[in-house]
Amino acid sequence: MAGRLEEKVALVTGGGSGIGRATALAFAQEGASVIVSGRSVASGEETVQMINAIGGEARWVKADVSRAAEVEALVNKAVAVYGRLDCAFNNAGIEGVLAPTAECTEENWDRTLAVNLKGTWLCLKYELLQMLKQSRGAIVNNASSLGLVGIAALPAYVASKHGVVGLTKSAALEYAKMGIRINAVCPGAIRTPLYEERIFKTHPQMEELVTALEPVGRMGEPEEIAAAVGWLCSEAASFVTGHAMAVDGGWVAQ
Ligand code: NAD
Repeated sequence: MAGRLEEKVALVTGGGSGIGRATALAFAQEGASVIVSGRSVASGEETVQMINAIGGEARWVKADVSRAAEVEALVNKAVAVYGRLDCAFNNAGIEGVLAPTAECTEENWDRTLAVNLKGTWLCLKYELLQMLKQSRGAIVNNASSLGLVGIAALPAYVASKHGVVGLTKSAALEYAKMGIRINAVCPGAIRTPLYEERIFKTHPQMEELVTALEPVGRMGEPEEIAAAVGWLCSEAASFVTGHAMAVDGGWVAQ
């Protein structure tokens, strides 16, 4: 398909739902061949079918981002299938358990940091090793508005997402002269399974609270994040690196 990412190869982790699925579709609509990755085969393959249905090219590769060997194999597979890797959206993440810091368990802390922060680093590591061979590439890490400001009762999540922003800036500086741009996107409250199927089902009062935190008076849609990621990966953003871009309805402007 013709678009800003024509002839490019793009990877999306956590591509079976929410922001990852919307971005995989946006990448395909912009002309990229897409490697859709995640843990759930059924939902990942569904994203691939959705891309094929709009005339796009995509493959599914299963990988848990917290496991180095699986991430290395994922990038190797992308290169084996499509020959290179031009763009990557490191999106896979979990919210962890809602509880204040003194009640956060070691298990919740370790798992949340393993997926959100270690997982993002592992993806960056293996994507960079490939992009360095090509002397070009654009990577976007999915942080959060909670990578820029705090909130009560999600200590591991907030720490992990602040870590993603710091990692993005360090890596951007390291590879700025090597043709590789690395940015983060910081979504506000977006309507995805993260909120709808998990947080709102167990804490129904949260929908009103979360909406009230959004200056625009509504939650965002996954496609609104996908549009920003597509732009950051495109040549239109050729002078943008090390940026943590809030796409948050004004959340962090408060
Ligand atoms: P989601 O739950 O639909 O998507 C998360 C995806 O990551 C799922 O497909 C899940 O299977 C996958 N995943 C989880 N652990 C994984 C692992 N170990 N390895 C590989 N894949 C794994 O929710 P979403 O809202 O689309 O979240 C996507 C990203 O956006 C997350 O990093 C989240 O923190 C971030 N985010 C979401 C919001 C929001 O309001 N929804 C706001 C800010 C940031």
